[in-house]
Amino acid sequence: MKDNYRIGVLEGDDIGLEVVPETVRAMKAALQRVGVTAEWLDMPIGRPAYDQLGTTMPDGTLEQLAGLDGWVLGPIGHREYPDDPRAVNPHPILRKHFELHSNIRPSRALKGLPAIHRDTDLVIVRENTEGFQPDRNVVAGCGEFRPTHDTTISVRVITRKNSRAVALSAFELARRRRSKVTAVHKNTVFKLGCGMFAEECRKVAADYPDVEYNEVIVDTFAMKVTMKPSDYDVVVTTNMFGDILSDLTAGLVGGLGLAPGLSAGDDHAMAQATHGSAPDIAGRGVANPYAMIVSGAMLLDWLGQKHGDDRLHRAAELVQESMVSVLEQDGVMTPDLGGSASTGEVGQAVARRIEAAV
Ligand code: ATP
Ligand code: MG
Repeated sequence: MKDNYRIGVLEGDDIGLEVVPETVRAMKAALQRVGVTAEWLDMPIGRPAYDQLGTTMPDGTLEQLAGLDGWVLGPIGHREYPDDPRAVNPHPILRKHFELHSNIRPSRALKGLPAIHRDTDLVIVRENTEGFQPDRNVVAGCGEFRPTHDTTISVRVITRKNSRAVALSAFELARRRRSKVTAVHKNTVFKLGCGMFAEECRKVAADYPDVEYNEVIVDTFAMKVTMKPSDYDVVVTTNMFGDILSDLTAGLVGGLGLAPGLSAGDDHAMAQATHGSAPDIAGRGVANPYAMIVSGAMLLDWLGQKHGDDRLHRAAELVQESMVSVLEQDGVMTPDLGGSASTGEVGQAVARRIEAAV
């Protein structure tokens, strides 16, 4: 337990400027309810930082973050950054620097909202710093090569260390849920890479006899989870499979506005929704803050786990449950869910519920 937590606020781009303040408002209200004091540090990042300071990742950002307990990172719209070496994409830098090996993405169907399967309640735990993603390929330095004009080779890195780390995240999480882990891979084809990933998952499974463990080949999983998501609790997988499958499961429960996430390592964690910066709807006050707000709750929960602080678990529950009640019971929702409330109205309703909770 700590007397004071230090939390960074990095709004990011486009709708980040709208959904992050609502997230901080909910987190602050919940921490106040449980009697935890926190210091909040606003840090410029992304396009607003570039326009103001000439770089998307101001000097000292990493050093400053290293001294914090965790941070909230809004979406980053790096595809629209100018062609300038000072306009870097902060994502891979943050993930690599802080070894945020596990990207945790829950998909849960809410009552009264359109979902393909009403009984979906699962979490994808995706390896976050290696795999096929060229920007994360620390071993090769770059993940794609073009040895001749018409041939490209993409390299996929799998390490025992990170396979084990992500498996541990999944089993720990499963213990706090329905005690079931499914490893998703394709060791029938990627015998070495997926083979190593599966081996490490099995080793970790042996240390968690109380958690049911099974494995499903990725293509079969895509079919099975689409037809019967209730068969799954925690799903652990490699980077690219997890990227694709977590969008699929987000689709099962109503889309990206409802897809929260946390990128966590052993020492640091950042709340980060699955969605991008949505420039098509930015600045209109219509972005759904659910994903970002629940990501904030996940950060509080992670901090509670790390510091053995039950007050933070309670704060996380308060944020999560209030957010869900605002949609399920109050029917205050943004246009993507068929409502007419603004981002701020949803945030305000969440804060009110937190303040009124018994
Ligand atoms: P990225 O590459 O950064 O993941 P993307 O191309 O996947 O970006 P998003 O920015 O996630 O795109 O947006 C995809 C679609 O989902 C857009 O139409 C966007 O408006 C919508 N969307 C994303 N997030 C939200 C949200 N929080 N609320 C409402 N709509 C959203
Ligand atoms: Mg996307």
